[in-house]
Amino acid sequence: MTDISVAGVRVNSSDGGSATGIRSAEDVAEMAETRGPASYEGLYVHVPFCRHKCHYCDFYSFVDSENRSGVFVQRLLAEAAAAARFIRRPLTSVFVGGGTPTMLPPKLLREMVEGLRIRLPMAANVEWTIEANPETIDAAMAQELGALCVRRVSLGAQSFDRSLLKALERHHDPASVARAVSLLRAAGVPQINLDLIFAAPGSTVEQCAADLHEAIALQPDHLSAYGLVYEPNTPLTVKLKQGVVQRVSDDNEAAQYEHVVEALAAEGFQRYEVSNWSRSGAQCQHNLLYWRNGDWFGLGPSAASHSRGVRWRNVPRLGDWLAQGPSSPVQDVELLSEDAQVGEAFMLGLRVVGGIERTRVEQLLQRGCGGPRRRAAIARHVAAGLLVQAGTHLHLTDPGFQMADSVLVDLL
Ligand code: SF4
Repeated sequence: MTDISVAGVRVNSSDGGSATGIRSAEDVAEMAETRGPASYEGLYVHVPFCRHKCHYCDFYSFVDSENRSGVFVQRLLAEAAAAARFIRRPLTSVFVGGGTPTMLPPKLLREMVEGLRIRLPMAANVEWTIEANPETIDAAMAQELGALCVRRVSLGAQSFDRSLLKALERHHDPASVARAVSLLRAAGVPQINLDLIFAAPGSTVEQCAADLHEAIALQPDHLSAYGLVYEPNTPLTVKLKQGVVQRVSDDNEAAQYEHVVEALAAEGFQRYEVSNWSRSGAQCQHNLLYWRNGDWFGLGPSAASHSRGVRWRNVPRLGDWLAQGPSSPVQDVELLSEDAQVGEAFMLGLRVVGGIERTRVEQLLQRGCGGPRRRAAIARHVAAGLLVQAGTHLHLTDPGFQMADSVLVDLL
């Protein structure tokens, strides 16, 4: 791994290559094209505004006291126009995340969505997902999302238990989730996702079961359930280090995950990734693109992009991002070696329930320098019943999903 610092941009090169003159996303996208023609299928848009900073959150988001949403949208559309020359095929998915995109007033949200549609090629059936905090969905916002033909709205429910929301310092009234779902349904939004967090400090399997019960009763089309991660430098991790909060035990967390798996299966939801379940036909195409290790372009402060084994991140500071442009200044650039790309293909592809086609597994094992090591790791995990080579695919077993992180790290 070589670390190269170019004009304040940190460039990590795992193949020892070099990169010079990198300042903006445009520079990196051009460099990625030297590895082969770009093939961006997805677009990620980062809106950094939130009502309140939740204590577990390490996304770039903040409460904006300067009301910069108008200049944000103008700057974002200029960035989209600059990116257009790299996007040569119609985009199949657009994911607007953050932050809380629905903090933008409805009129500005429309300006942003319509502006992106004008500036970038989009497939006729492009999947639009917009993330929302339930308390930001009132009748006007729901109507706007329906009128904009957004296919999916992803609501951060996290929990319906006030004590667990308090433990996470997540400020919303649990009743606002049902209200938001009903307004979105009435406005004609076709698919609704609910995000849940389990294994919060002090949580029990019974609370997890109650959360699932409430979530399922709202009849979402998609559910994401993530075990709480104590991200470095978040207020929650500080509290953990100070002993103010305690992690739940590994057994408790495993039991909560097991309950999620069983309860959602019993309700007919299909698990299609370690932490994601959907009704038939409601899988998130944008997330599937990430797990296929596809190429996507990111717009907005802190947005990540990926093309041809090159990953980069826009500068995670609104002021710097607004001050420069139209292409975003970048902070981190990673040039993945052939071997690192193979590791990522395994790591991401095996998170999906169907796994990876065995012919592709063989191709991957021929690339890079880690083939013998990975072949041995696969054999070991197959013998332990965590992976299975069934029919045409290699995939995780149910016990393998329970231990996905430790299995997959061996193939990285
Ligand atoms: S609403 Fe979402 S993005 Fe905003 S602080 Fe909370 S978890 Fe982070």
